[in-house]
Amino acid sequence: MARRPMMAANWKMNKTIREAEEYTAALLPRAADADEVDVAVCVPFTCLHEVGRMSEDTRVTAGAQNFYFEDSGAFTGEISAPMLLDAGAGAVIVGHSERRETFGETDDMVARKAKRAVDADLLPIVCIGETKGERDAGGMWDKVSGQLSRVIEELENVDGESIVFAYEPIWAIGTGDTATPEDAQDAIGKIRDLLEEEVGEDFAESVRILYGGSVKPENAAEIMAQEDVDGALVGGASLEVDSFVQLIDAAQNTVAQTEH
Ligand code: PEP
Repeated sequence: MARRPMMAANWKMNKTIREAEEYTAALLPRAADADEVDVAVCVPFTCLHEVGRMSEDTRVTAGAQNFYFEDSGAFTGEISAPMLLDAGAGAVIVGHSERRETFGETDDMVARKAKRAVDADLLPIVCIGETKGERDAGGMWDKVSGQLSRVIEELENVDGESIVFAYEPIWAIGTGDTATPEDAQDAIGKIRDLLEEEVGEDFAESVRILYGGSVKPENAAEIMAQEDVDGALVGGASLEVDSFVQLIDAAQNTVAQTEH
């Protein structure tokens, strides 16, 4: 089953509303031709309404970088799934390692957010990945499979198109230290195998699993060429339209090459 590649930008805590408008105005015409690739731009809450409005009825999906799994109530400072939908979001990053490490998000919270996003019809991009210390100690798979298993427990009757996973080794995020294409394939292949065992073959074959960690125009093609890698979640190289468009083009070219 062919999976549509996805390129997802994560702006993190960057850009004013004005900068977001300029970026989106420049991106939309340039992303329009990449018709084999799903493009999402995950922006700060303050920019979401504007990016959502500008990208309505285009091939670009506006996304958020976080939300809380309750819909309303006494949760000062939090934003709910209905609020994201209202602001124009179609996707949301869940469990980014910066949220887990800096803001104390647990596997349990991440799993509940993933489930709530799916139920709300928001596409969650669920991040999992190990630290350098865990990898060096041979604990990569223990960590990643533990994070994944907690999300799987929460998913019931979910189809593969309604959720995306991103394997993001923490040592590769924002460091310039990209995983080798073989490391990315190895981890993502194992993730797909576990999904097949636990959720079923149809789900595992249709769900997209992205790689994230210092993806840039220079290394995107070889990462995208890996059998189980369906795209990328990109921080630094998504902040400039030029480099993000080069990544979208790399994904589009991968599809063209597989078809020949
Ligand atoms: C990320 O923020 O998810 C990420 C992968 O960042 P970078 O591309 O900068 O490593």
